[in-house]
Amino acid sequence: MPASTHLRVRHALHPAPAQTAALDNLWHLGQHLWAVLALHARLEATGQPQPMQRVAALAAGPPPTSQVPVRLPRRSTAERRRELEVLARARGWRAHLGSATLDGLVSDFGRTLKSLGPVAPPDAIPLTPPHDFALVLGGLARPVGELHAEIAGVPGLVQAPLFLLPGPAGAAVETWRRTFGGDLTTRRGALEAGLLAGDPEADASYLAHVARYGLIESHLGAVPDHAPATPPAVSLVLAEAAQLHHSDAGGYQISWAFRVTGLTPPSHQDLIALDPGVRSLWTWVSGRHSHGRSPMPLSLLRPWSPAMPGPPTRLLAQPQDLIYARLRRHQLLHRTRLKPVLEAGLARFLQFAAVAVERTDFGGMRCRGEDYPEAADFLGTRLYEQFLCDCARLDPGHRMAVWVPPAWTSVDCSVCGARGAVHYRGRSGRCQTCGQHLDRDHNGARNVYQRGAAQLVARGLPWTPAPLPIPPRRRRP
Ligand SMILES: [Zn+2]
Repeated sequence: MPASTHLRVRHALHPAPAQTAALDNLWHLGQHLWAVLALHARLEATGQPQPMQRVAALAAGPPPTSQVPVRLPRRSTAERRRELEVLARARGWRAHLGSATLDGLVSDFGRTLKSLGPVAPPDAIPLTPPHDFALVLGGLARPVGELHAEIAGVPGLVQAPLFLLPGPAGAAVETWRRTFGGDLTTRRGALEAGLLAGDPEADASYLAHVARYGLIESHLGAVPDHAPATPPAVSLVLAEAAQLHHSDAGGYQISWAFRVTGLTPPSHQDLIALDPGVRSLWTWVSGRHSHGRSPMPLSLLRPWSPAMPGPPTRLLAQPQDLIYARLRRHQLLHRTRLKPVLEAGLARFLQFAAVAVERTDFGGMRCRGEDYPEAADFLGTRLYEQFLCDCARLDPGHRMAVWVPPAWTSVDCSVCGARGAVHYRGRSGRCQTCGQHLDRDHNGARNVYQRGAAQLVARGLPWTPAPLPIPPRRRRP
């Protein structure tokens, strides 16, 4: 996927079984269209060009293979798109896929083809989309409430933790909901007036309106009205550019796109390094602006994996009810406890011109059966970290951000640099080489700082991050 001019926030969807079937249908259709595009290009590359209509009929058979490098087909996105449109209409796929989805597929495919260079073996044209492929939904998905998204082609509203959106993104969604909800109210008001006046056309239009928007109108009407006390450092507008993703852990995710309309320049020309965790949501250190922690505000033990009652017979018919209950509990804990800490962290970190974040290896942790990825999803910390890095990406004149690999960050000594030299008892440790006593999280954050600083300098940071002071000697408690 190319670097986008949008800032994206991505979270899970919790579809009901019928909704999962509809999402599977969309997803598989996207994969199938990719295969048709790839087969079409392979046939052309091997000197057997076929119209796309005919290719679709061949798609079930074995693809032509050749490892001899040839000139790859060079056609414009618009040409490929025109041919695909005819096919999609003829096959009835158009009923499921919108223009934005087809445009996205064709341009993603075109980019993949271009990345192979002008000459390559036809076999190099992949028959399946890349690992990070996302189906473009465009304006066909809407964030209708803190707990629900509407996706065209999927029945009902899909449950989703939209309350996790970082503050500026949440504010942009609220603004969009207020505007869209207001438009719907105005339109319905006009239709109601016509209906009451006995206009038969207004009668039909009113029914169509309620059929189309009735489900979401009540959600859009319930927009909380709380202006932030201080103007946010980032102002965003919701762009109609949602995408559907398949997550590594299985299941679907959605990402909402935002255009940045305002970003206050950072006030500290300094680097801040973040070490994410559970005891502290983040432990942070900076060169000239001290160090600290964003404390874990929940007193519940492992709040991300609550014991859930089994469905009592005949009371809870739908497993979806339990997901809803769990989502409401998550929303409550998030809104009242977690959000204030996360937002305070975000406001602090945005003041820095450079950010280094430890990129915890979720995939590896999942394989090892560790529950940190689940905790990070629940706490929302990764969303905020991604948000910070996206702010830097979209404001390269003022900001830079890097992800730091997690290997050795907690056991290397951040004072003398000795590899794997810090041995811990509980949270406090001592370096076997220089004798320095170190707190585990603080040592981790210091190492993230030093590695982040090296990466940033290598990438051309126009100023040099300050060396970290040696932490005061601490006695083991
Ligand atoms: Zn040491």
